Amino acid sequence: MFKPKKIYIDVEVENASFTETILNNLAGVPIEFIDDPRLATDEILSKPDPIGQGKKHLLITSYKGRMLKPCPGTPKVICCHYQILSPVIGCPLDCTYCALQMYFNNPLITMYANINDLMREMDERLQRKSGWPLRIGTGELTDSLELDHITEMSRLFIPYFSKKSNVLFELKTKSNQINNLLDLNHGGKTVVAWSVNPQTIIDKEEMGCASLEERLQAARQCQEAGYKLAFHFDPIIYSPDWEEGYESVVESLFEYIDPQNIVWISLGTFRYPPSLKPIIRERCPRSKIIDEEFIPGQDGKMRYLKPIRVGMYSKVLSQIRSHNRNVFIYLCMESTDVWRKVFGWTPKNTADLARMFRT
Ligand code: SF4
Repeated sequence: MFKPKKIYIDVEVENASFTETILNNLAGVPIEFIDDPRLATDEILSKPDPIGQGKKHLLITSYKGRMLKPCPGTPKVICCHYQILSPVIGCPLDCTYCALQMYFNNPLITMYANINDLMREMDERLQRKSGWPLRIGTGELTDSLELDHITEMSRLFIPYFSKKSNVLFELKTKSNQINNLLDLNHGGKTVVAWSVNPQTIIDKEEMGCASLEERLQAARQCQEAGYKLAFHFDPIIYSPDWEEGYESVVESLFEYIDPQNIVWISLGTFRYPPSLKPIIRERCPRSKIIDEEFIPGQDGKMRYLKPIRVGMYSKVLSQIRSHNRNVFIYLCMESTDVWRKVFGWTPKNTADLARMFRT
């Protein structure tokens, strides 16, 4: 389990109850109190491989802005109205393709201890009605569960959301850290989701993450505890044997999991902003993921050529459909044209897709 080398604590939050929880779970780790978070970031940025160093150091501070924000999505594609909750930013795992590596100004794993502000913000947001179920997740700027033995966030959020209506709370992970979840009253409002990839891709591109088998075993335990489950085939990564690789992931998934408990599966092929390329080259020289042919999309992100993407989506879709005809499957950040080629239909727009998710 992850343990940082050092904890920097902003004196503004040294007495916060969340700070106390973190310190109780990290007894023995060296601590430095600071009166400005920039002192911590400057120190880490001055080291060689600040991104790698940031993954080993923790900063506890407060966040002055909104911690619940709509997913920025990407222009000219169908998005799904996801809401991102970010009391933690940064991740000790080390995926070669992780977009968080571009957050140069603060590479530390950062936890915001002003949780009362966050809970107030959520109360306000949940009072506003929308025409579709609100989906809120913590797994966009960190891994939702890899740090849960330190933060115990699941113990705060899962009971909170269990009493709310027209909302689904998603924990998205590549870990198998589910111990805090199993005895909680979730009320069917929490979806525990795993990103999945063939083990050969995990070995090369998802350093420190749980193996596919460990992820599926953890998913089965959550299934037994009555949780709804989701799976993200994202990023789907091209390799000469991608077809067999993803077929074996689908096979394993349905060996472990009853499809009736799966609320959604997303598919998204590998995409990246051009500024990530030199970082991958420098930090992960053995990775081959950026050696394929890519074209810039209308949002500026680099993607595999459209026929390759359509071919990969169609194949994974038919592999899933050969096991189950009903599970809800959607594409992440793709154009209506690609939707139509893969499914034969397309949501009219982002709101239309958001309405298809069921609580
Ligand atoms: S698990 Fe997610 S957040 Fe963590 S390094 Fe991998 S892609 Fe980034």
